[in-house]
Amino acid sequence: MPVIDFLASHALAFVLFALLLGLLIGSFLNVVVYRLPLMMQRDWREQAREVLELPAEDRGATFNLLLPNSKCPQCGHEIKAWENIPVISYLFLRGKCSSCKTPISKRYPLVELSCGLLSAYIAWHFGFTWQAGGMLLLTWGLLAMSLIDADHQLLPDALVLPLLWLGLILNHFGLFTSLEDALWGAVAGYLSLWSVYWLFKLITGKEGMGYGDFKLLAMLGTWGGWQVLPLTILLSSLVGAVLGLIMLRLRNAETSTPIPFGPYLAIAGWIALLWGEQITSGYLQIAGFR
Ligand SMILES: [Zn+2]
Repeated sequence: MPVIDFLASHALAFVLFALLLGLLIGSFLNVVVYRLPLMMQRDWREQAREVLELPAEDRGATFNLLLPNSKCPQCGHEIKAWENIPVISYLFLRGKCSSCKTPISKRYPLVELSCGLLSAYIAWHFGFTWQAGGMLLLTWGLLAMSLIDADHQLLPDALVLPLLWLGLILNHFGLFTSLEDALWGAVAGYLSLWSVYWLFKLITGKEGMGYGDFKLLAMLGTWGGWQVLPLTILLSSLVGAVLGLIMLRLRNAETSTPIPFGPYLAIAGWIALLWGEQITSGYLQIAGFR
């Protein structure tokens, strides 16, 4: 394949390719973040009605990740292909619906841009390798689940569990760590937060975390092995403290709104996977152990 040969031998071309791919995937992630929770709520309602032996609701029109086409929530204007080009369409439309001029949330182009830049960084960090392919999938998954968790305090199994299996499968081939370390990463990741959860609940009678957080840390453990877990937990509290302070400033000290833990875990795990060894050895050096 000439295209693959070209990307493999031109580092910059691969980074640009990842940037463009990331922008497009980011556009799709916006749809996933909006629709997946709605699809889950539909399913739960349907299951609940079944258990309660209530007649099934009319499902109405098809609603999944691909259908129907995206519409302006204000006027129902169907979004055309040219209005759906990541970032560019937003700038071209000056952030407004082409039909009713209602402002479009800045979050859409920001998610596309972040996804593009993160993808480009992965391509630069790993070069044209299987590791880059794996990390791209993980990055997109983490981005989607962080946004869904921030919106709904919900980490969908439909995103977390496939990535957990993928981590195990990739490390069967030793892509990031050994299969053995990946397996114990899953076990230790789940059990560590599970024990914190129960300890916290026994002492305070409150729930400080959700089961989704345990699964997310287990999933990160399958990618980097149990070795990434201590740093991930440490960094997640740091990221949480920093972002928490920023958000308190922005929200004018609205402390009652629950802040989900998933995004912090996701960011911390991503950093630990990419730079874990450098951070740990740097720290040991500063602390005088090496
Ligand atoms: Zn409109």
